[in-house]
Amino acid sequence: MNYTVISDKITPLQLKHAARCICDAQSIAIITHQNPDGDAMGSSLGMRFFLQALGKTNVTNIVPTSFPDFLAWLPGVNEAIQYEQQPEAAVQALREADLVICTDLAEAGRVAALSPILAERFSAYAQSSEGSDSSEGSENSECSENSENSECSPKSSLLIIDHHLSSVCSGHPEQIAFPDSASASELVFRLAWQFARSSRAVVEPLSSHSRAIVGSRPDFSDILTPEFATCIYTGMMTDTGNFSYNSCEPEMYNIVATLLTTGIDKDAIYDRVFNAYSADRMRLIGYCLYHKMKLFPEYHAALITLNRKEMYRFNAKSGDMEGIVNMPLQIKDVYYSVFMREDKIPPHQQEEAKGAKVKAKISFRSQGNRPVNILAREVFRGGGHMNASGGEFFGSVDEAAAKFIETMSRYLQKD
Ligand code: 5GP
Ligand code: MN
Repeated sequence: MNYTVISDKITPLQLKHAARCICDAQSIAIITHQNPDGDAMGSSLGMRFFLQALGKTNVTNIVPTSFPDFLAWLPGVNEAIQYEQQPEAAVQALREADLVICTDLAEAGRVAALSPILAERFSAYAQSSEGSDSSEGSENSECSENSENSECSPKSSLLIIDHHLSSVCSGHPEQIAFPDSASASELVFRLAWQFARSSRAVVEPLSSHSRAIVGSRPDFSDILTPEFATCIYTGMMTDTGNFSYNSCEPEMYNIVATLLTTGIDKDAIYDRVFNAYSADRMRLIGYCLYHKMKLFPEYHAALITLNRKEMYRFNAKSGDMEGIVNMPLQIKDVYYSVFMREDKIPPHQQEEAKGAKVKAKISFRSQGNRPVNILAREVFRGGGHMNASGGEFFGSVDEAAAKFIETMSRYLQKD
C-alpha cells in the first residue's frame, strides 16, 4: 500500500509534543466534549485503539454526558466511563491520569460537570514549562528522568487534538489544533500515521525511559485495525454529513481509502448511524418542520424551538434532536438555520444561571461565507466553526428565540 499521498499536516513540533506526552505516560485519560457526536466518540475511541497499538495498557475513555444510541455500537464504547453513570470513577481517572488527551475538544468548559477538573489540568499545563512555547521551541529539549522540572510533571501533561477555533491553543503551537480540518477523527488518523512513520526520529530525543516504553518503531499496519478504522471513519463521516459538506479536501479520500483497506464496511457504518432512528424521532421532525419552523426571508434564516413539554410529548432523547438543525438549509434561499431546545440547568451551572429554571441549548448552521460562530460567541456564550456553532442561554427557549430575533440584524447578512 502506498501511503505517501497523505501529507504531513501535523508539524514536527506537534508530533514531538504528542510523542513525548504519550511516551512518558503510564496512565492516560481520553476525554471528549459533552453531548458527544460521531466525531467526538470516533476520535476519542480511535485514539484509544492507537494507544493500545503502541502498547499502552492503562487507557481510560471518559464521556462527560450520555451518547446517543446510534453510536452505542462503536468498538471500545463499552469500556468508556460515562460520567453520569460512574461519576467517581470519571473524576478519579481524569484527575489522576499522567496524561489527559482531549479529542474534538479544546475548552475545559465543554465537559459538563467535569469542567472544573479539566480546567485544573489546563491551568497546570499552562503553568508548566511544557505549556510554554519557549521550551518546545528548542529541538533538543530532553526530558531528564525523575526530574522535578514541571516539564516532566505528569499531572500537567496535556495533549489536545481538535479542529475547533480555540483561544486555548492559540498560544500553544505544540498542540494539534487545525480549524481547517473537517473532523478531529481525521487528525487522530494523521497523528497515528505520522507517528508510525517518524517515531524513531521523534522518540530519539526522549529519555531512555520513554524509549523503553515505545520500544521499536510501531508499524502502521499494527495501528490500522478494523476497530481503529471504524472509529475514525465514523467521525469523518458524521462531521461532514456523510461527505456532503467540508469535504472537498482530496486527501480526505486518501485517508478513507486507507481505512477501507482494513475491510470495514462503510455502507454498514452509514446504516448504523443514519438509519437507526426511532419512530418518535421521525414524528418529532414532522412536528418541528410543520408546526415549529419560523422563516425570516429577509435574513434567509430559519428558527426551530422545542420546549421541554414538546420534547416530553415526543419522548425525545438527546440523539433524537441530532441533525434537525440542518434540515431547513434544504430550503432554497435559506442560508442560516437555528435550533433551540430546552434543557435543565445542571448543578455545576446553577450559580452562573442566576435563578433561571431552564436553559436553551442552541445550534447554529450556515452556508457559504456567513459566519455563525461570532453570534454564538458574543450573544450565546458559545462558539464553534464558521458554519456550525453552538451556544446556550439561561432562560426558556422562547426567551432565547426573542434574543436571537433581537440580535439578528447585527449578525446575519441579508444577501
Ligand atoms: P452542535 O450544534 O452540533 O451541538 O455543535 C456544533 C458545533 O458548535 C460544535 O462542533 C462546536 O464546535 C460548537 N459548539 C456547540 N455548542 C457549543 C458551546 O456551548 N460552546 C462552544 N464554544 N462551542 C459549541
Ligand atoms: Mn468534531
